[in-house]
Order: sequence, then C-alpha cells, then structure tokens
Amino acid sequence: MSASYFSHGELVGVLTTQPLDRVLDYKAPEGGCFVGAFVEVPLGPRKVIGVVWGAGKGDYDRSKIRHVIRVLDVAPMRTEMQDFLTKAAGYTVTPLSQMLRLATRAPGLGDPPSMRKVYRKGSIQPDRMTDARRKVMAVLAEYGGLSFTLKELADMADVTSSVVKGLVKLGAVAEEDAPRDTPYPWLDPDYAKKDLTEAQEAAAEVMRKGVASDVYGTTLLKGVTGSGKTEVYMEAVAECLRAGKQALVLLPEIALTSEFLTRVEARFGAKPAEWHSGVTMTERRRCWRMVGQGDAKLIVGARSALFLPYQNLGLVIVDEEHDTSYKQEDGVLYNARDMTVLRASLVGAQVILASATPSLESWANVEAGKYKKLELTSRYGPAVMPDMRALDMRAENLPSTRWISKTLRDEVLARIERGEQSLLFMNRRGYAPITLCRACGHQVGCDHCDARMVEHRFQKRLVCHQCGETKPMPNVCPNCEAEDKLAPVGPGVERLAEEAAELFLDARIATLSSDMYGSARALKAQIEAIANGEADVIIGTQLVAKGHNFPLLTLVGVIDADLGLQGSDLRAAERTFQLMRQVAGRAGRAEKRGVAYLQTYQPEHPVIRSILSGDEDGFWGAEATERRHAGVPPYGRLAGIVLSSPNVQEVFDVGAELARLDAPLRDIGAQVFGPAPAPIGRIRGRHRVRLLVKADKAAPIQQALIKWVNQVKIGNNVRLSIDIDPQSFY
Ligand code: ADP
Ligand code: ZN
Repeated sequence: MSASYFSHGELVGVLTTQPLDRVLDYKAPEGGCFVGAFVEVPLGPRKVIGVVWGAGKGDYDRSKIRHVIRVLDVAPMRTEMQDFLTKAAGYTVTPLSQMLRLATRAPGLGDPPSMRKVYRKGSIQPDRMTDARRKVMAVLAEYGGLSFTLKELADMADVTSSVVKGLVKLGAVAEEDAPRDTPYPWLDPDYAKKDLTEAQEAAAEVMRKGVASDVYGTTLLKGVTGSGKTEVYMEAVAECLRAGKQALVLLPEIALTSEFLTRVEARFGAKPAEWHSGVTMTERRRCWRMVGQGDAKLIVGARSALFLPYQNLGLVIVDEEHDTSYKQEDGVLYNARDMTVLRASLVGAQVILASATPSLESWANVEAGKYKKLELTSRYGPAVMPDMRALDMRAENLPSTRWISKTLRDEVLARIERGEQSLLFMNRRGYAPITLCRACGHQVGCDHCDARMVEHRFQKRLVCHQCGETKPMPNVCPNCEAEDKLAPVGPGVERLAEEAAELFLDARIATLSSDMYGSARALKAQIEAIANGEADVIIGTQLVAKGHNFPLLTLVGVIDADLGLQGSDLRAAERTFQLMRQVAGRAGRAEKRGVAYLQTYQPEHPVIRSILSGDEDGFWGAEATERRHAGVPPYGRLAGIVLSSPNVQEVFDVGAELARLDAPLRDIGAQVFGPAPAPIGRIRGRHRVRLLVKADKAAPIQQALIKWVNQVKIGNNVRLSIDIDPQSFY
C-alpha cells in the first residue's frame, strides 16, 4: 500500500485551522482518503475543516478516535504546499494551524459546487415558430453545443427571457445545471506582443530562458519608473503561459490592480484571475477553486495570493518589491516577498522582483550572488528622469500655517498657465496631525491608545490612526472645557489642499488620499479622471507614489522631504530615498521633461544629497556599510517581541523576566534589548512593551526564540507576538 493512501478505518493525522497547534488523529472515512485531502472532521461538538497531513500518530486511545466525516470536493493540497506551509510557519514562528488558515481563505470550501442554470440546444424542433423563437434557435445553431446563461442567450438573440423559457417548455431548448465556478478565459501569449527596445528585449530574453529552465531562480529587475519593467516581465509571463504553467503577479496596492488588468487584457486578450480584499466572495471562491484545478493560469493579487493552491507554479512577479505593504503587520507576521522566494524555491519556479528602488535586502542578495540582476537604465521613449532640486526652506520664511513655498507656488502657477499638471506630495492623511487646546495646551488623544486623534475635516471627525476609533470634532476642550479653543497644528493633505485652493484660485484641485474614497471604484475613477487631465493640481499621500501614470504631470513638489528622516527606524534613510525617488518619478513620463522639488530644512543632509544627485550606488554602498557595522538587516538578524496587556505592571514584569532568562539566546550569540515601553505605549487599551533580539544572520534564531519564550509562564491577559525581520517598530 502506498503511504499516501489510507483505506477506511486507518489512522490519519488531520491539521485543522483551529487554534490547537497539533495534528489530530482520525479514522479514514469510507472510501478512504489521500494525503492532502481537504476533509471535514468532528471536533468536540463541532464540524471543522482540515487537511489530511499524513499518517496518524496512534498515541491516543483508538476506541475514542472518530471518523473523518467526508472528503471535500476540491483539489487536494499538494505535498509541496504542505512543505511550504510548514517551513513558512517555522520561519515566522507561527502555529501551523494559522498558516493553514491563510491557505484556506475561500468561502464555502466545504460546500458542494454551487450550480446555476444554463441553456443549450434541445432535441425537439418547435412546431410553431415565431420571429423571436427563430432568433434564439439561430444563435444556438451558430454556437453548436455551447451553453449560455438565460441572460446571455436572451441578449444574444435580442429577445426577452420569456421567449427562451417558452422554448424550454417545448423541449427545443434544454435547461441544465452547471457549476457556477467556471474556468478563467484562456490567455494567448502571442496575442499582442509589443516591440521591445534592445535593452528591454535583452532583459526579456534572460527571463524567458529562466522560466523555460524549470528550475528555481530569483532575478531583481531594476529600472527607473517608466523604463518598461512591466512590459518586460509580461514576456516572462507569456513564456510561462506557453509552458502551460501558472504565473502570479503580486501588486502592493489594490488601487493599482484595475490598471494592471487592462494591461493584461491588451497583452493576452483576456483578463486574469484576481485575488485581493476587494474581490467578491463568489469570485474568491471561484478563484481559489480554479487555481487549485489549474484552470486559472495568471493570477493578479495582493500578498495573500501567494497562499492559493497552485498546481504548477512557474513564475511569481513581485512588483515594487521594496514596498512595505508586502509585510503583513497583524495576525501572521510574514513578508510576502520573502515567502515568495521560499515558495518558488520549493517548486522550481522563477521569481522576478521588480522595482525602481529595490530594498537593501535585495541589493545585498544580488551582491552575495544569490539573485541575478537585470537593469533598465533609461525611460521608454522620449521621457527622461526629472530634474531634482532642493528648496531650502530656511530661506523661504513661511508663516507657521503655510507649507507651500513661494518658489514652489510660482512653479505650479507656471504649469497651470501651460496646461500641465503639478503634484504636491505630503505623506500624511487627514487635516492636521495635532488638535491643540489654545486655553490649556491639551492635545486631543485617543481614549484607548497613546496616540493623538487626527482631524479629518472631510469626514468632519477625529480619527485615531492606531485603532481606527473616530469621534465627532468637539466644540469644547475635553480637558478644560473651554469653548472654541481647539486649533489644528501642523499639516495633513486636506489642509494642504485648502492652502492650494487659496493660492491657485481658478485651478482644479484633486486630493488623492486612501481614506477619502468610499470604494476602490470611486478611487479608480478619480485616478482615471486625473490621468485624463481633469485636474491641474494633485494633492496626494503615498498612494500617488505607486505606479500611476499621469502623462500631463511635469512638476512634483515634496512638501516635507525631512518627514521620514526623523525617528529611529533603521530603514528611515532607505525609505526616504525610495519614496522621494518614486514620487519624483511621477513627473515627466511623456514628452515633457519633469522637475521635482524637495522642500527641506536640511539640504546638506547626506540622504537628501544622494536623492538629489541620483547617485544610487553611492547611497546603497554607504547604507550597506553602516548596517554591516551595526550588524543589522540585511547583514544581521532582528526579531521584535511585543508584549501587551490591559495591566501595565503585568507586561513589564513578563518583559523583565524574559530579559533575565536570556540564556537560550546567549547560547546562539544573540543579544536582547529591552524591555522598553513601545513607541506607542498603548493601543486599544492594551499596554505595550517591546524587546528586540539581535543575532548573526546565520544563527538559528527561531528555535532559540521558542525555547526562550517557553521558559516564562504568561498569564491569559498577556499577548506575546514575535516578529521575525520586523519592518516597523511602533
Ligand atoms: P515601468 O513598469 O518600468 O514603470 P512600464 O512597463 O509601465 O514601465 O512602461 C512605461 C510606459 O511605456 C507604459 O505606458 C508602457 O506601455 C510604455 N512602454 C514601455 N516599453 C514599451 C515598448 N517597448 N513599446 C511600447 N510601449 C512601451
Ligand atoms: Zn486609538
């Protein structure tokens, strides 16, 4: 008997998505089951879904072991997926059951296939024909054996649906049940290939070869914004489709998907499958199932699309690979870029990391020879990179409630005159970051977090950016009850828009901030309107930095280039460099040369200087040297530990105890820093304490962490989370 099949009554181990971190024994159901089968099993009084993970352990009283209820009608989990989930759980120090949950996030997995009525040609010829009936029969004759939904058939024949129903009664049209989840349309790799430039073609050829080689490999595709990275990696996708394998394109922002789907359709003749939080439940279910049976060949999605049940994954593209949104910051803390590389290495797939401003991690992996690198150095067509200039704000003498310098204002006015667009960039949502009482000096804070409430004038509310709590803008100070003394301090995009409206009286001003649109569709419509020239001045948060193409845009003004340089984040310089280059890249994407101004109070700051000079290798070289000396990522390893509890004493006690019992970490040469109050000391009413573990890159940090935290008994009130390779330190 093969080890992967279990006949009726044999013991199998089933992993469920329930928070019990172990595989449970069951008896195989009637008809048996294979390893990887999705099954329904009894758990206490409930029925839950799980996966047959392997043979049962048999360490439990056999008479008490229950039967698997049934095997679900979905493609079984492949061994390589089990392997991926196991390794990903190990790397991120996450319970395996939680990893499985990421891999089963489709509704109705346990349901029988959902059906719908379809219509095709019947066997009987109706004796009484009308014009309307004739039209229906003509459509069915033309399409032979194909079936249609009622609406499709009626629309194609240009008749009402009652005509079709009438024909069904006569037996001239057959009505049948068919599965609702249908395969995605075929994508034609040769549908409309663009002529690539010589440099593009050279890069595309390397990628095609990679995909055709059938072995794992990761390539960093670096190229300035507008150099044609997308066009080039589409060729790798085409090669993957030719090979009959599945390709996945990960995008950092849902707002970018629709533009991308349109490009896929133009290139391959049909739209791909889509997977992200904006997709309907029905479509999600279809996507999950079709990926599992190999009937979706190209999937475009957010980071969680990496956990779909691919049958033969050949290629994964991580677009804007440096983007911080690839790191999931709640629930399972994982970096989709890194997990992509893991997954691809297990199935012999190729990975392409695309970016104009790669992360230092990827840069270092190229240096170390782990990744290949391909570079596109010039923009496609006549477009060239914008001029970058600093505006020394010390010389501008602005009043404290104004943020647009005179120089920048004049430049914008000149653009409005010429019918060109300007973008004013400010990476802060809302109206003002601080609401201050002029009578008592109180700053309005959140009741549940150690964070200020941010005024969102557009929504007429105060919002906590930590927990999402909102309240109406008060008239009296919550502290001293003085009336009408609350005043906004500092700028957010909404306030900047107000200033712009005063300065540019007749201009059309559009504000792009993720919180100002009720739906992804409304946001998309606004982006399209801007691209069509329906705005003169665009005010935007980092949402605009990502990928959108505004052909009329020739000026970018960064309102506060110093913003990201403050604070102690080890990636502050890297992030600022990336964001500034990315935003500047929005200017001058068509024939007209663009210019980008950085308003700064420290034009001599090394990061600002390297942004302006465009000396990337110089910047990354210096940054790498610094990090190497400090032994921090990507040259060392960090793990962040956050303890939280409603009881402040308790979290500090647990933190102190962990710090004291650091032997398992010292054994691998790692150091513990902390406990220290987290930068945001309280969120949703829970007090927060951080510890930071620093180790050599090669140290077996995961096992040591587990040993370490298991020494300490942690009360039910306390939550402990381990963040391997932390990206944020709040
Ligand atoms: P990137 O992904 O590097 O920002 P894109 O692939 O989006 O660049 O290319 C920028 C623009 O130039 C797009 O509108 C794209 O269609 C166009 N483009 C790039 N290369 C070509 C080409 N070889 N032929 C035609 N259009 C191209
Ligand atoms: Zn809050």
